Amino acid sequence: MNVLILGGTGEARQLAAALHGRPGYAVTSSLAGRVAIPLLPDGEVRFGGFGSVGGLVAWLREHRTDVVVDATHPFAAQMTAHAVAATAAVELPLLVLRRDGWTAGPGDRWHRVPDAAAAAEVLPDLGERVFLTTGGGGLGGYAALDRLWFLLRAVDPPSPPLPRRCHVLLDRGPFTLEAERALLDEHRIDVVVTRDSGGALTAAKLVAAHELGLPVVLLDRPPAPTAPTVTTVADAMRWCAQALGPGSG
Ligand code: NAP
Repeated sequence: MNVLILGGTGEARQLAAALHGRPGYAVTSSLAGRVAIPLLPDGEVRFGGFGSVGGLVAWLREHRTDVVVDATHPFAAQMTAHAVAATAAVELPLLVLRRDGWTAGPGDRWHRVPDAAAAAEVLPDLGERVFLTTGGGGLGGYAALDRLWFLLRAVDPPSPPLPRRCHVLLDRGPFTLEAERALLDEHRIDVVVTRDSGGALTAAKLVAAHELGLPVVLLDRPPAPTAPTVTTVADAMRWCAQALGPGSG
């Protein structure tokens, strides 16, 4: 069974590692090619966009794909929409593997907002020194907040326009609680802005913010796709085994 995993996440790499070499599976992972030095999954890997829905349809046909697992980041909404449309067009099964979002606990001071524009609106009331970890794009909405200072953390250099007063920190998780505490302390952060990515690898900043009593502005996920969805790699494995047929588990 030819499996295409749309990747770029830890879960996608775990799924590729789990399926790679199993009898009956030929796995190809697809990476957008944005990150300069990507973490590579086991098995075949292809890089770069497909060329919208039409390009993905052509790729699926050419490579005789049997099933597609969209294990992209919860905020990679365009790739997910293309996967839904392309698999519908060629009548292939699609599974979405998407980790759960984060849930606030007692004492958390979270402000959920729908997007960056809404985050920029609430920020001035919450503090002056902002730790912004929402990825390297879409930062223009914060550019007009001249009174605030930003610590921007991203994997690759963020694209302008950037806030006027900012320091860019290039780093990739996982981040430890100790390191996140030290970072908030060193930069005298008042408020954290992040996306509801979910998962353990980048959750330490939320714990550190909680410990310090800092408010967190949390950008909501894009709407969930209309496709069968699981939240764990184990469930994705079970779905693939079912798709492969009896006796394959
Ligand atoms: P996006 O906005 O949903 O996608 C934009 C375009 O990039 C897609 O239309 C597609 O181009 C191409 N693309 C995206 N993911 C791809 C993949 N896995 N394989 C091949 N092409 C892909 O995506 P994004 O938010 O820029 O994220 C890009 C990649 O980084 C994703 O693989 C995602 O899992 C990973 N990632 C994203 C984030 C995030 O914050 N968004 C965080 C961690 C990892 P075509 O239309 O030409 O096919």
